Amino acid sequence: MTEPSPWKAALEQLDDAAEKLHLDTGVHDVLRHPKRVLTVAVPIRREDGITHVYTGYRVHHNTSRGPCKGGIRYHPSVALDEVKALAMWMTWKCAIVGIPYGGAKGGVVVDPKDLTRRELEALTRRYAAEILPLIGPERDIPAPDMGTDEQIMAWIMDTYSMNVGYSVPGVVTGKPLSVGGSRGRGAATARGVMYITGATLKHRGMAVEDTRVAIQGYGKVGGPAVRLLEQLGCIVVAVSDVNGGVYNPRGLSWKGLADHRADAGTVAGYPEGEPITNEELLTIDCDVLIPAALESQLTERNAEDVRAQVIIEAANGPTTPEADDIFVDRGLLVVPDILANAGGVTVSYFEWVQDLQAYFWDEDEVNEKLRSIMERAYVAVLDLTEEHKSPMRVAATILGVSRVAEAHLTRGLFP
Ligand code: NAD
Repeated sequence: MTEPSPWKAALEQLDDAAEKLHLDTGVHDVLRHPKRVLTVAVPIRREDGITHVYTGYRVHHNTSRGPCKGGIRYHPSVALDEVKALAMWMTWKCAIVGIPYGGAKGGVVVDPKDLTRRELEALTRRYAAEILPLIGPERDIPAPDMGTDEQIMAWIMDTYSMNVGYSVPGVVTGKPLSVGGSRGRGAATARGVMYITGATLKHRGMAVEDTRVAIQGYGKVGGPAVRLLEQLGCIVVAVSDVNGGVYNPRGLSWKGLADHRADAGTVAGYPEGEPITNEELLTIDCDVLIPAALESQLTERNAEDVRAQVIIEAANGPTTPEADDIFVDRGLLVVPDILANAGGVTVSYFEWVQDLQAYFWDEDEVNEKLRSIMERAYVAVLDLTEEHKSPMRVAATILGVSRVAEAHLTRGLFP
């Protein structure tokens, strides 16, 4: 078995959609290539006085529908092929929810937990300075992803602003409220996952109250997802993070988990359930599985053993194409990342709009607009699954690719 490659997977998904759409070969070829790829060296002086050089990337996949948008990831396994795949998926995602952006992604090969706060700030500011020619409110607007948070966004906003000489809140989203963040952004991805879960259960005739959910990852997405799915009425039976997980068939309390995590720094060891490994979580007895951590978690190695009937992809790229085929054969429903986790970029878009207008909305307004966009996108994808007799991922990719292709053809090829 070869190691899963997110870029290979992303290209296969595009090729499949292009074939079904009878896409012009030139447009298809344009979409197979990221528009620009930047690799940067990020030197910082560590606390011991020794300079260490980290590698960073920023990739713009496409700008046919507007400026680029995409998260920045700090993780030891960041690689250029992964960043390219994530940028391409961002292009489709923005088109699916109908927001006027193209896809981008960035990352630094680093474990942020190995750095002190001063080192983290130095790394962030230097990385921001190195990618400065690519970013800007009308060019490319980064946001948090794995290993980055609102503080890191504030440092990027400050670095950019210091360079141009005035405050530019619209250069990043996912910022703290004090520097132009949006209400509702923190839990937006999880809230979008909740709306999509609710719509999926309704469509499949499953009662929310009887639905048992397992969530892999307890970060910015998985953490709020536990609370919001419990509020929706589901029973969250299993949760995990990088250190391991916990299972209770009668349900876990979001508050109990949050308190334990605040004390212990992990959900592992939560006493109100039995300990499980991350591998076990993926195949645990439940109705809905929500991967909300890394990519390539559901592979040909474990796809046969997944017991959930529905998989809602909160993480980006958690299912390999081989696992996807197995799920189709087994009749499992996979609601793809480019639809399911689009709540984050949607509220990032709201944040950018608020920053550009210097006029801020209340949280109910943010959540209501988010709900309407997510539900509309869900129905649009569902219609295409019926029209093309395709799994949801194929239908969602068809929707994203067709909207981007339309914009590209309308603008024409420069020069
Ligand atoms: P995060 O860094 O806040 O949290 C990641 C979580 O995954 C942590 O709980 C960590 O312990 C856990 N984890 C790491 N390695 C793991 C492993 N091997 N097994 C199990 N758990 C592991 O990241 P996040 O922002 O929550 O992002 C999670 C996923 O959601 C990523 O795929 C990201 O691209 C995607 N996503 C995030 C956003 C967003 O707004 N933050 C939006 C859309 C998609």
